[in-house]
Amino acid sequence: PAVIVAIDGPSGTGKSSTSKAVAAQLGLSYLDTGAQYRAITWWMVSNGIDTDDPHAVAAAAGKPEIVSGTDPSAPTITVDGVDVAGPIRTQEVTSKVSAVSAVPEIRARITELQRTIAGAAPLGIVVEGRDIGTTVLPDADLKIFLTASAEARAARRSGELKGADVNTTREALIKRDAADSSRKTSPLAKAGDAVEVDTTALTLPQVIECVVTLVEE
Ligand code: C5P
Repeated sequence: PAVIVAIDGPSGTGKSSTSKAVAAQLGLSYLDTGAQYRAITWWMVSNGIDTDDPHAVAAAAGKPEIVSGTDPSAPTITVDGVDVAGPIRTQEVTSKVSAVSAVPEIRARITELQRTIAGAAPLGIVVEGRDIGTTVLPDADLKIFLTASAEARAARRSGELKGADVNTTREALIKRDAADSSRKTSPLAKAGDAVEVDTTALTLPQVIECVVTLVEE
């Protein structure tokens, strides 16, 4: 039977790198749900929708077609056929994605998409996000909740953003996690039956090995 692995946690915990590597090692599909929320946010910005207006965002929620490629060695994301892998990582999209993803109509649409993708994965899938274990796939075979200290998360993120100031990155990260944790619909949260892995003092290979072992148990 197909195996479903949910990996949740705040930003900068190594969620994406870990999820991709685990999926690749186990021959499973991979879904980056943050990329889907970023993609719909990119579409809102590109189409002049005020992302601070929940009614405007809700009214447009059904318009863009979001398609995710689930090969862990080459994941893809398109909006209406356009490759948006680069544009969804800009500062502008990153600063607006929490507001867009707090809109219930957005979550309903993206959650349905995620369930369809997970159900269609032939051998199973590793799905990473914020609400996968609690809301999207509550019957997942394994739920992991990754954490790390604010310092470690900011340091990793500014390493990725090459040259970005650690303090500025840290402020932005804390603000986004606070918004993601306090929204009313499916906030960032650890499922009651999730295994928490604190990655602060672990290397990426150690985290990957830990999760692979948990899947194989
Ligand atoms: O994982 P990533 O940092 O790319 O996610 C971007 C944003 O998408 C998060 O800050 C959050 O607002 C939203 N998100 C969400 N639910 C998920 C995944 C991401 O609300 N399952």
